[in-house]
Amino acid sequence: MSGSNRDDFTPNNKRIMAERVSWKCSFPGCGRNTVGPHSDDPTKRINNGIAAHIHAAASGGPRYNPQMTPEERKHISNGIWMCRDHGNLIDTDYTVYSASTLLDWKAQAEKELQIALNYQLKSL
Ligand SMILES: [Zn+2]
Repeated sequence: MSGSNRDDFTPNNKRIMAERVSWKCSFPGCGRNTVGPHSDDPTKRINNGIAAHIHAAASGGPRYNPQMTPEERKHISNGIWMCRDHGNLIDTDYTVYSASTLLDWKAQAEKELQIALNYQLKSL
């Protein structure tokens, strides 16, 4: 797990990142659920999502920003929750998917779920 030069998110921050978007992919138009029951083991769940770094966790990675500190790189604000397909896509085609684009998507995904949550509360 450790021993690398990656500034990875903590497990707790990954979970909060996912919960803030209701475990749905933040890629516009996707919204795929990334968590569900394990088919054989009633005590387990499948997590098919990724806490993707907006600015890469390590030098040479997509959208790496050398000005950031390790604490900033591993901070929850530097992550966006995605399904595995879109997590891979944004890191492969990283000139198309800029940091500012990803930050916009993250804000949009969280806003949509905040509205949905508030609506559900009002309609109880
Ligand atoms: Zn997706």
